[in-house]
Amino acid sequence: KPHCLITMGMAGSGKTTFVRKLYSILKVKGFNVYTINLDPAIRKLSFPANLDICDAINFKKLMQEYSLGPNGAIITALNLFATKFHEVIDLISTKTDIHYILIDTPGQIEAFSWSASGTIITDSLASVFPTSMLYVVDTPRCTNPNSFMSNMLYASSIYYKTKLPIMIVFNKTDVEAWEFAHEWMTDFESFMQSIDEISNESYLASMNRSLALVLDEFYNELPAVGLSSFTGFGFDIFVPLLETSKREYMNSYLPELEAKR
Ligand code: GDP
Ligand code: MG
Repeated sequence: KPHCLITMGMAGSGKTTFVRKLYSILKVKGFNVYTINLDPAIRKLSFPANLDICDAINFKKLMQEYSLGPNGAIITALNLFATKFHEVIDLISTKTDIHYILIDTPGQIEAFSWSASGTIITDSLASVFPTSMLYVVDTPRCTNPNSFMSNMLYASSIYYKTKLPIMIVFNKTDVEAWEFAHEWMTDFESFMQSIDEISNESYLASMNRSLALVLDEFYNELPAVGLSSFTGFGFDIFVPLLETSKREYMNSYLPELEAKR
Protein backbone atom coordinates (compact mmCIF):
# COMPACT_ATOMS: atom_id res chain seq x y z
CA LYS A 1 0.00 0.00 0.00
CA PRO A 2 1.22 3.52 -0.74
CA HIS A 3 2.48 5.68 2.10
CA CYS A 4 0.33 8.79 2.39
CA LEU A 5 2.13 11.99 3.43
CA ILE A 6 0.04 14.96 4.51
CA THR A 7 1.99 18.21 4.58
CA MET A 8 1.00 20.82 7.12
CA GLY A 9 2.55 23.95 8.54
CA MET A 10 2.04 27.66 9.08
CA ALA A 11 1.29 29.88 6.08
CA GLY A 12 4.49 30.57 4.19
CA SER A 13 6.49 27.82 5.91
CA GLY A 14 7.12 26.33 2.48
CA LYS A 15 4.67 23.42 2.25
CA THR A 16 4.06 23.73 -1.46
CA THR A 17 7.74 24.22 -2.26
CA PHE A 18 8.57 21.23 -0.04
CA VAL A 19 6.00 19.03 -1.77
CA ARG A 20 7.44 19.97 -5.14
CA LYS A 21 10.98 19.12 -4.05
CA LEU A 22 9.99 15.88 -2.34
CA TYR A 23 8.01 14.89 -5.42
CA SER A 24 10.99 15.35 -7.73
CA ILE A 25 13.41 13.63 -5.35
CA LEU A 26 11.14 10.59 -4.94
CA LYS A 27 10.65 10.45 -8.72
CA VAL A 28 14.39 10.47 -9.30
CA LYS A 29 14.70 7.59 -6.82
CA GLY A 30 12.31 5.67 -9.06
CA PHE A 31 9.19 5.83 -6.89
CA ASN A 32 5.71 6.30 -8.27
CA VAL A 33 4.17 9.30 -6.59
CA TYR A 34 0.53 10.36 -6.61
CA THR A 35 0.11 14.05 -5.79
CA ILE A 36 -2.97 15.80 -4.46
CA ASN A 37 -3.40 19.54 -4.11
CA LEU A 38 -5.95 20.50 -1.44
CA ASP A 39 -5.28 24.24 -1.56
CA PRO A 40 -8.18 25.76 -3.52
CA ALA A 41 -6.69 29.26 -3.34
CA ILE A 42 -3.35 28.49 -4.95
CA ARG A 43 -2.73 30.70 -7.99
CA LYS A 44 -0.29 28.59 -9.89
CA LEU A 45 0.52 25.05 -8.84
CA SER A 46 4.25 24.44 -8.76
CA PHE A 47 4.12 20.64 -8.87
CA PRO A 48 2.22 18.35 -11.22
CA ALA A 49 -0.91 17.27 -9.36
CA ASN A 50 -2.66 14.03 -10.23
CA LEU A 51 -5.64 15.41 -8.39
CA ASP A 52 -6.26 19.10 -7.91
CA ILE A 53 -9.07 20.59 -5.83
CA CYS A 54 -8.94 23.55 -8.24
CA ASP A 55 -10.14 21.26 -11.06
CA ALA A 56 -13.17 20.28 -8.99
CA ILE A 57 -13.99 23.68 -7.55
CA ASN A 58 -13.82 27.12 -9.09
CA PHE A 59 -12.55 29.22 -6.21
CA LYS A 60 -13.32 32.67 -7.68
CA LYS A 61 -16.83 31.63 -8.66
CA LEU A 62 -17.40 30.16 -5.21
CA MET A 63 -16.44 33.48 -3.60
CA GLN A 64 -18.79 35.41 -5.87
CA GLU A 65 -21.70 33.02 -5.76
CA TYR A 66 -21.81 32.71 -1.98
CA SER A 67 -20.38 36.17 -1.19
CA LEU A 68 -17.49 34.63 0.71
CA GLY A 69 -14.14 36.06 1.71
CA PRO A 70 -11.02 34.05 0.87
CA ASN A 71 -10.99 32.12 4.17
CA GLY A 72 -14.68 31.26 4.00
CA ALA A 73 -14.25 30.14 0.42
CA ILE A 74 -11.30 27.87 1.33
CA ILE A 75 -13.37 26.20 4.05
CA THR A 76 -16.39 25.87 1.74
CA ALA A 77 -14.26 24.43 -1.07
CA LEU A 78 -12.76 21.88 1.33
CA ASN A 79 -16.22 20.99 2.62
CA LEU A 80 -17.50 20.39 -0.91
CA PHE A 81 -14.42 18.34 -1.72
CA ALA A 82 -14.68 16.29 1.49
CA THR A 83 -18.20 15.14 0.58
CA LYS A 84 -16.70 13.50 -2.52
CA PHE A 85 -13.51 12.27 -0.91
CA HIS A 86 -14.55 8.62 -0.76
CA GLU A 87 -14.42 8.71 -4.57
CA VAL A 88 -10.84 9.91 -4.36
CA ILE A 89 -9.96 7.04 -2.01
CA ASP A 90 -11.65 4.54 -4.33
CA LEU A 91 -9.78 5.97 -7.30
CA ILE A 92 -6.36 5.72 -5.63
CA SER A 93 -7.13 2.26 -4.27
CA THR A 94 -7.51 0.94 -7.82
CA LYS A 95 -3.93 1.95 -8.60
CA THR A 96 -1.57 -0.79 -7.58
CA ASP A 97 1.80 0.69 -8.49
CA ILE A 98 1.89 3.83 -6.31
CA HIS A 99 4.54 4.14 -3.59
CA TYR A 100 3.69 7.53 -2.16
CA ILE A 101 0.66 9.81 -1.99
CA LEU A 102 1.83 13.39 -1.45
CA ILE A 103 -0.72 15.89 -0.20
CA ASP A 104 -0.41 19.68 -0.07
CA THR A 105 -2.84 21.53 2.21
CA PRO A 106 -4.08 25.15 2.23
CA GLY A 107 -1.62 27.92 3.14
CA GLN A 108 -3.49 28.84 6.30
CA ILE A 109 -2.96 25.84 8.56
CA GLU A 110 -6.21 26.00 10.52
CA ALA A 111 -8.28 25.73 7.33
CA PHE A 112 -7.24 22.09 7.26
CA SER A 113 -6.09 21.23 10.78
CA TRP A 114 -9.09 22.78 12.46
CA SER A 115 -11.95 22.05 10.08
CA ALA A 116 -14.42 19.20 9.89
CA SER A 117 -13.46 18.58 6.28
CA GLY A 118 -9.75 18.40 7.13
CA THR A 119 -10.55 15.81 9.76
CA ILE A 120 -12.75 13.81 7.38
CA ILE A 121 -10.09 13.82 4.68
CA THR A 122 -7.27 12.91 7.10
CA ASP A 123 -9.24 10.15 8.83
CA SER A 124 -10.45 8.60 5.61
CA LEU A 125 -6.94 8.50 4.18
CA ALA A 126 -5.53 7.08 7.42
CA SER A 127 -8.22 4.40 7.53
CA VAL A 128 -7.05 3.00 4.19
CA PHE A 129 -3.38 3.93 3.74
CA PRO A 130 -0.43 4.12 6.13
CA THR A 131 -0.41 7.87 6.75
CA SER A 132 2.10 10.29 8.24
CA MET A 133 1.88 13.98 8.97
CA LEU A 134 4.76 16.18 7.87
CA TYR A 135 4.88 19.39 9.84
CA VAL A 136 6.86 22.03 7.94
CA VAL A 137 8.54 24.74 10.01
CA ASP A 138 9.92 28.04 8.73
CA THR A 139 13.32 27.71 10.44
CA PRO A 140 14.46 31.34 10.03
CA ARG A 141 11.22 32.43 11.67
CA CYS A 142 11.52 30.28 14.77
CA THR A 143 14.95 31.19 16.10
CA ASN A 144 13.15 32.95 18.95
CA PRO A 145 12.27 30.46 21.72
CA ASN A 146 8.69 31.77 21.88
CA SER A 147 8.02 31.27 18.17
CA PHE A 148 9.75 27.92 18.38
CA MET A 149 7.56 26.85 21.27
CA SER A 150 4.47 28.11 19.49
CA ASN A 151 5.29 25.98 16.46
CA MET A 152 6.03 22.90 18.55
CA LEU A 153 2.73 23.31 20.37
CA TYR A 154 0.95 23.41 17.05
CA ALA A 155 2.74 20.27 15.92
CA SER A 156 1.85 18.49 19.13
CA SER A 157 -1.77 19.60 18.84
CA ILE A 158 -1.92 18.01 15.38
CA TYR A 159 -0.52 14.82 16.82
CA TYR A 160 -2.99 15.05 19.69
CA LYS A 161 -5.90 15.46 17.30
CA THR A 162 -4.97 12.97 14.57
CA LYS A 163 -2.89 10.47 16.60
CA LEU A 164 -0.92 9.92 13.40
CA PRO A 165 2.86 9.72 13.34
CA ILE A 166 4.27 13.16 12.74
CA MET A 167 7.66 14.36 11.51
CA ILE A 168 9.00 17.86 11.93
CA VAL A 169 10.57 19.31 8.83
CA PHE A 170 12.75 22.34 9.57
CA ASN A 171 12.66 23.98 6.16
CA LYS A 172 14.68 26.84 4.63
CA THR A 173 18.01 25.76 6.13
CA ASP A 174 19.67 27.50 3.20
CA VAL A 175 18.76 30.71 5.04
CA GLU A 176 19.16 29.58 8.65
CA ALA A 177 20.87 26.44 9.93
CA TRP A 178 18.55 24.29 12.03
CA GLU A 179 21.08 23.12 14.64
CA PHE A 180 19.67 25.48 17.26
CA ALA A 181 16.27 23.77 16.91
CA HIS A 182 17.82 20.32 17.10
CA GLU A 183 19.65 21.38 20.23
CA TRP A 184 16.51 22.81 21.84
CA MET A 185 14.67 19.57 21.15
CA THR A 186 17.37 17.26 22.47
CA ASP A 187 18.88 19.33 25.26
CA PHE A 188 16.35 20.65 27.75
CA GLU A 189 18.95 22.80 29.55
CA SER A 190 19.92 24.54 26.37
CA PHE A 191 16.33 25.59 25.71
CA MET A 192 15.99 26.83 29.30
CA GLN A 193 19.12 28.86 28.86
CA SER A 194 17.80 30.45 25.68
CA ILE A 195 14.58 31.37 27.49
CA ASP A 196 16.57 32.95 30.31
CA GLU A 197 18.56 34.95 27.81
CA ILE A 198 15.48 36.70 26.49
CA SER A 199 13.88 37.20 29.90
CA ASN A 200 13.79 35.37 33.20
CA GLU A 201 11.00 36.96 35.15
CA SER A 202 8.03 37.21 32.86
CA TYR A 203 5.01 35.02 32.98
CA LEU A 204 5.88 33.89 29.46
CA ALA A 205 9.29 32.65 30.53
CA SER A 206 7.81 30.59 33.33
CA MET A 207 5.15 29.22 31.02
CA ASN A 208 7.87 28.36 28.50
CA ARG A 209 9.73 26.39 31.16
CA SER A 210 6.66 24.38 32.11
CA LEU A 211 5.76 23.70 28.50
CA ALA A 212 9.32 22.67 27.70
CA LEU A 213 9.12 20.12 30.50
CA VAL A 214 5.98 18.65 29.02
CA LEU A 215 7.21 18.72 25.44
CA ASP A 216 10.52 17.12 26.36
CA GLU A 217 8.72 13.79 26.48
CA PHE A 218 7.01 14.48 23.16
CA TYR A 219 10.33 15.36 21.47
CA ASN A 220 11.81 11.98 22.38
CA GLU A 221 9.42 10.26 20.03
CA LEU A 222 9.50 12.93 17.40
CA PRO A 223 11.65 12.60 14.29
CA ALA A 224 12.95 16.02 13.22
CA VAL A 225 15.09 16.90 10.26
CA GLY A 226 16.53 20.08 8.79
CA LEU A 227 16.36 20.58 5.05
CA SER A 228 16.04 23.09 2.26
CA SER A 229 13.28 22.80 -0.29
CA PHE A 230 15.32 25.12 -2.49
CA THR A 231 18.64 23.31 -2.56
CA GLY A 232 17.55 19.78 -1.65
CA PHE A 233 19.90 19.72 1.34
CA GLY A 234 18.81 17.25 4.03
CA PHE A 235 16.47 15.15 1.89
CA ASP A 236 18.98 12.28 1.90
CA ILE A 237 18.40 12.07 5.64
CA PHE A 238 14.69 12.83 5.49
CA VAL A 239 13.59 10.24 2.90
CA PRO A 240 14.82 7.13 4.78
CA LEU A 241 13.02 8.39 7.92
CA LEU A 242 9.73 7.96 6.08
CA GLU A 243 10.07 4.21 6.53
CA THR A 244 10.33 4.63 10.30
CA SER A 245 7.23 6.79 10.26
CA LYS A 246 5.33 4.24 8.21
CA ARG A 247 6.32 1.54 10.68
CA GLU A 248 5.04 3.68 13.52
CA TYR A 249 1.68 3.91 11.78
CA MET A 250 1.64 0.11 11.49
CA ASN A 251 2.64 -0.39 15.13
CA SER A 252 0.58 2.27 16.88
CA TYR A 253 -2.19 3.70 14.73
CA LEU A 254 -3.33 0.60 12.86
CA PRO A 255 -3.96 -1.63 15.91
CA GLU A 256 -6.20 1.05 17.44
CA LEU A 257 -8.01 1.48 14.16
CA GLU A 258 -8.61 -2.25 13.90
CA ALA A 259 -9.76 -2.45 17.50
CA LYS A 260 -12.45 0.12 16.71
CA ARG A 261 -13.72 -1.81 13.69
P1 GDP B 1 3.22 27.47 1.89
O1 GDP B 1 2.27 28.61 2.12
O2 GDP B 1 3.51 26.78 3.19
O3 GDP B 1 2.77 26.53 0.83
O4 GDP B 1 4.63 28.10 1.43
P2 GDP B 1 5.26 28.21 -0.04
O5 GDP B 1 5.75 26.90 -0.52
O6 GDP B 1 4.33 28.95 -0.92
O7 GDP B 1 6.56 29.09 0.28
C1 GDP B 1 6.48 30.34 0.93
C2 GDP B 1 7.74 31.13 0.60
O8 GDP B 1 8.88 30.51 1.15
C3 GDP B 1 7.97 31.24 -0.90
O9 GDP B 1 8.45 32.54 -1.18
C4 GDP B 1 9.04 30.19 -1.14
O10 GDP B 1 9.82 30.50 -2.25
C5 GDP B 1 9.84 30.24 0.15
N1 GDP B 1 10.52 28.96 0.44
C6 GDP B 1 9.99 27.74 0.51
N2 GDP B 1 10.92 26.80 0.80
C7 GDP B 1 12.09 27.46 0.94
C8 GDP B 1 13.43 27.05 1.25
O11 GDP B 1 13.78 25.87 1.47
N3 GDP B 1 14.37 28.04 1.32
C9 GDP B 1 14.07 29.36 1.10
N4 GDP B 1 15.06 30.24 1.18
N5 GDP B 1 12.82 29.77 0.82
C10 GDP B 1 11.84 28.84 0.73
MG1 MG C 1 1.06 26.39 -0.29
